[in-house]
Amino acid sequence: MASRDRFAINTISNNSLALGDAIALYCRHGVRAITPWDDKVAELGLAETKRRLDDAGIALNGFCLAGLFAKHGRGNLAVALDHNRRVLDLAAALGAPMIVTCVGGLIAGERDLDYARRYAFEGMQALVEAARPYGITLGIEPLHPMYLPEWSVVTTIAEANDWAERLGAGVGIVVDTYHTWWDPALAEGIRRAGAAGRIAAVHVNDWLSPTSDVLLDRGMMGEGVIDIPKIRGWLDDAGFAGRLEVEIFSTRLWAADQDAYLAETLQRFEEHV
Ligand code: ZN
Repeated sequence: MASRDRFAINTISNNSLALGDAIALYCRHGVRAITPWDDKVAELGLAETKRRLDDAGIALNGFCLAGLFAKHGRGNLAVALDHNRRVLDLAAALGAPMIVTCVGGLIAGERDLDYARRYAFEGMQALVEAARPYGITLGIEPLHPMYLPEWSVVTTIAEANDWAERLGAGVGIVVDTYHTWWDPALAEGIRRAGAAGRIAAVHVNDWLSPTSDVLLDRGMMGEGVIDIPKIRGWLDDAGFAGRLEVEIFSTRLWAADQDAYLAETLQRFEEHV
């Protein structure tokens, strides 16, 4: 039974709305913290985004999205880092405490997974150096293995803990129920992350079974098969006291009436988180 004081929402949950309209929606429903995406902020403009957030009294729980080094192709780490520096600038200007970081998958057109892991780690080392002066935490989010080719060679919480440990200060991890619920070592991973003070953010949502699309068919909490209260208990025991951020990629829900959907999300947050 989560209190609304702990509620935050990732704006991807209302991806059909422009950022300005999403902020107005959150304001109507008393939401106090959000995580926006860099492309939507760029669309609305940095100054205008800041003004609307301030007027609505909404703080940033985090910012999306850093990483994805492989996306720019082999040998183009500098290009990837330039993009990441722009994301850091936006996040810092808006006062975000952390940036969700997907380390990237296979190099476009290649099959060498070992190389992809080394490449992503090298990218992270450079990004950590770039991020430290900003004082913003990079939260490595382990993603479900089905996301590996495009999004992340880090697929388990154990790997995310290992990477964070090796990368050192300024790196945390993001625990997303959708990506981690299946992992037999999840409880241990959360304990380890909590003991190191490393849990930078928590994303909540549900896994529909069957699912029609592994990227764009997530469920609201309580609609699917994840025992969210159990995972929440592990997070509590690990000392995590931050916000629990709802993050739902769903073409079904993006097409729904956004006021009714957010009202239901808030109710389900209290009942199922
Ligand atoms: Zn997430």
